Amino acid sequence: MIKLRERSQQLSTITQMSAGIAHEIKNPLTAIKGFLQIGAANPALRDNYQDIILDEVNRIESIVQDFMMLSKPKSSIQLEEVELKQVIDYVTRLLQGEADTKKVRLFSSCHFNEHSIYTEPKRLKQILLNIVKNALEAVEVGGEVQINGKQLEDELTLSVIDNGQGLTEQELAKIGEPFFTTKEKGTGLGVMVTKKMVEDLNGSIYFESEKGKGTEVTVVLPKVHDSEY
Ligand code: ADP
Ligand code: MG
Repeated sequence: MIKLRERSQQLSTITQMSAGIAHEIKNPLTAIKGFLQIGAANPALRDNYQDIILDEVNRIESIVQDFMMLSKPKSSIQLEEVELKQVIDYVTRLLQGEADTKKVRLFSSCHFNEHSIYTEPKRLKQILLNIVKNALEAVEVGGEVQINGKQLEDELTLSVIDNGQGLTEQELAKIGEPFFTTKEKGTGLGVMVTKKMVEDLNGSIYFESEKGKGTEVTVVLPKVHDSEY
């Protein structure tokens, strides 16, 4: 015999999530449909909307990818010896173009005794990428984003410090909630997915922020991933 009432909380989470996903996907779909209809009625205008349509399709793709990552089981982790400096350099290089366009100084500093940890490179890169991307989006022209790598005993600390717009206490309390965003074109999924990936790697994530001053995001990871966890 099952007491159905206990499921109501679960159901309400599912309902909320579904409504959120549906909403996030419906918006770009409506835009795509609209632009395709204009193009169909007016073939001369078709080329004008190709970029927007592609942007909106990319948006749907990235939302779907985020949700796929959320449902990926922890057991799918593939552990490897990971050279940390390489991960930091990879992410820095990947986002350098975006930083240059915004005239933001993106730089890193590493203090490691040992240079590698045993973890999953794919998730680690994605974690750092998501955090640095948010930092770049938070800073104004001329701002700074710094990636710091440090090693403490059995732990590794990665921090991303920016001197961007920061968050109020109320905003900070909502960080990581599904669909929480302060950006016009944000999805509010990045931090939630990042947190899940950090937890997959048996780590923790911390946010410290002050409105108007900046934000520091710290990820603490075990040096050796213990799959028994
Ligand atoms: P999105 O980037 O699509 O808005 P995220 O889940 O990545 O979604 O981030 C959620 C929210 O957290 C952002 O909209 C922003 O308000 C806040 N945030 C995250 N990182 C930072 C940061 N470095 N500085 C200021 N705000 C941040
Ligand atoms: Mg983001």
